[in-house]
Amino acid sequence: PLDKDELGTATWGFLHSMASYYPKNPTKKQSEDMTKFFKIFAEFYPCEPCALDFQADLKKHPPRTESQDALAKWLCERHNTVNVKLGKPVFDCSKVHERWRDGWLD
Ligand code: FAD
Repeated sequence: PLDKDELGTATWGFLHSMASYYPKNPTKKQSEDMTKFFKIFAEFYPCEPCALDFQADLKKHPPRTESQDALAKWLCERHNTVNVKLGKPVFDCSKVHERWRDGWLD
């Protein structure tokens, strides 16, 4: 089985990649489906304490699904909430596409 950290790193990789490749101009259906995706994801994420906290965070900060930039920034902020909870460094969200879509530009 994956431990909590392996599961987390693999999952963040998937979620950030999905957000960075989400349409720049989604249809209404794509936007609604992405909102549903995160609700269902939070229901079934296979780490119970993680899932419960993420469900509560989603209620306070519903998914921003109106564009690729909005979704990527929103997800970066959600990941930062977990980073703060775990005492990890906060990630600079202006670099989220560089990290997960374009590759580092330096
Ligand atoms: P990770 O946090 O896994 O990050 C992987 C990579 O993402 C980093 O190396 C960095 O390059 C990049 N990154 C870091 N921050 C950001 C950001 N804000 N935006 C974009 N990219 C970023 N673990 C627990 O112990 N308790 C929990 O309650 C918990 N809740 C979680 C909830 C969810 C929804 C998920 C997906 C994971 C959760 N985890 C939780 C796991 C935790 O977030 C980490 O994945 C795990 O601790 C391993 O951390 P890491 O240092 O390898 O980097």
